[in-house]
Amino acid sequence: MIKIKHLSKSYGDLTVLKDINAEIHKGEIITIIGPSGTGKSTLLRCLNLLEKPSGGSIYINNIDLLAKTTNVPKIRQKMGMVFQSFNLYAHLSVLENLTIGPVKLLGKSKSEAGSKAFELLKLVGLAEKANNFPDELSGGQKQRVAIARCLAMEPEVILFDEPTSALDPTTVSEVLAVIRRLAKDGMTMLVVTHEMEFARNISTRVFYMDEGVIYEDGPPEQIFDNPQKEKTSSFINRVRSYHYHIDSPNYDLYAMNAEIETFCNKHFLPRRVCDNVLLLVEEVLLLQTDFSDIELRLAYSEKTGQVEFLCVAAGAPVNPLEASVHDDDIGLKLIQSRSAGIQYKYENDKNILSINVKGASH
Ligand code: ADP
Ligand code: MG
Repeated sequence: MIKIKHLSKSYGDLTVLKDINAEIHKGEIITIIGPSGTGKSTLLRCLNLLEKPSGGSIYINNIDLLAKTTNVPKIRQKMGMVFQSFNLYAHLSVLENLTIGPVKLLGKSKSEAGSKAFELLKLVGLAEKANNFPDELSGGQKQRVAIARCLAMEPEVILFDEPTSALDPTTVSEVLAVIRRLAKDGMTMLVVTHEMEFARNISTRVFYMDEGVIYEDGPPEQIFDNPQKEKTSSFINRVRSYHYHIDSPNYDLYAMNAEIETFCNKHFLPRRVCDNVLLLVEEVLLLQTDFSDIELRLAYSEKTGQVEFLCVAAGAPVNPLEASVHDDDIGLKLIQSRSAGIQYKYENDKNILSINVKGASH
């Protein structure tokens, strides 16, 4: 359906896409992963001709996209695009957002476009919002409207560019569920995403992009469980970590909490995981007696989704897991309720408490 040959794209001296080659078949669901800045968005934008490639060729159903004779608007209509930032028309109702394209570009009658639009809103669960305006909707609802609007143009392929990155974590899953539904219905899709679990479950193939090329291309089992190339492996297995050092009982709790929240948001951790982390940190600190040297560490594995919280406190051995240490054991109970595993050891004059945060693994 889509053939990409030696596609390249440079901005001035900066070569973003070096040599992209791929064949995409009808019904395939391809997720594109990779570090930021590796040209994932640029690739989608080149496919949709929002950017002009610097070299190479793209064929859609054997039509050369870059040939001068090619009807660009027609081709572009076959490739729907869903952006991170929705791009809805703010001054039009939800229904009008869906009908404007089909009426103006596909030559449909208003009533035909309207009934189709209503059907699509039902599909994405938003029929009751047909007469609302975009700013009355949540981010997740806006993105579902954007997907319905894209479907209204009857595309053969949909390109998603990080469709959930701008969303409040609570609305991510409603958008992923709609994309899953389209996948089930056989829509051909290319999805750039940071949601590793989603990518693993939905994809027929995964492209790992790096160094301006599709560095590794394979089924999700290969990319996630048995990557063949070193960079893919280090990307998949990378652990993101955060440290905070405390050297007095007067440490700044609010600043620390804000940094932890930023860390969680940056790595798209679900809200409940972030809440568990914050509560664990707070309760673990309440159990400390010596604040002269405490190192807090969070380690998040993108592959497993696990978050480990480590508290390394200098001083005499005090096992916080022994109830006798405390006046009451409410703190300990709270810690246990948010943990999927706790270990304590004393090593090199330090109390080391390691907690596997609950709700964090895939
Ligand atoms: P990704 O989506 O993988 O994060 P992008 O495709 O957005 O990466 O960007 C790849 C590189 O191209 C980045 O270094 C970015 O700064 C650069 N880039 C993207 N768009 C433009 C542009 N219009 N002009 C100049 N540089 C750009
Ligand atoms: Mg991008």
